[in-house]
Amino acid sequence: MSLPTRVCQTCGRRFTWRKKWARDWEQVRYCSRSCQRHQPDDVDRQIEQQILHLLNTRNPSGSICPSEVARQMDPDDWRNWMERVRQAARRLVARGQVVILQKGCVVDPSDCRGPIRIARSQGPITRST
Ligand SMILES: [Zn+2]
Repeated sequence: MSLPTRVCQTCGRRFTWRKKWARDWEQVRYCSRSCQRHQPDDVDRQIEQQILHLLNTRNPSGSICPSEVARQMDPDDWRNWMERVRQAARRLVARGQVVILQKGCVVDPSDCRGPIRIARSQGPITRST
């Protein structure tokens, strides 16, 4: 038997039903206390927009590195923005707007480790025209 899963509204990772949520699973939106405390704010929405904007400047099958977005948010302190950019990318994956690639293949953002690239959701599929 498989338990129900849901995508966290903050980190964009999939999480699985747990007994502590038995009574209010329908209302659960975050995978952890930490994610509940750090709900996406205006800046996080801005990161999402920046990802989509940057992708629009590339050709349809092009991809971007999260660090490109992080550098736009803060050229000096961009490393500290990386996790927020990755979270924003995972939220966009959950909405079907982008995909996350590793070595050119689409991966599940919930369990990929290591360097990632972001592409438009229809990007990696070869077009027949
Ligand atoms: Zn989370």
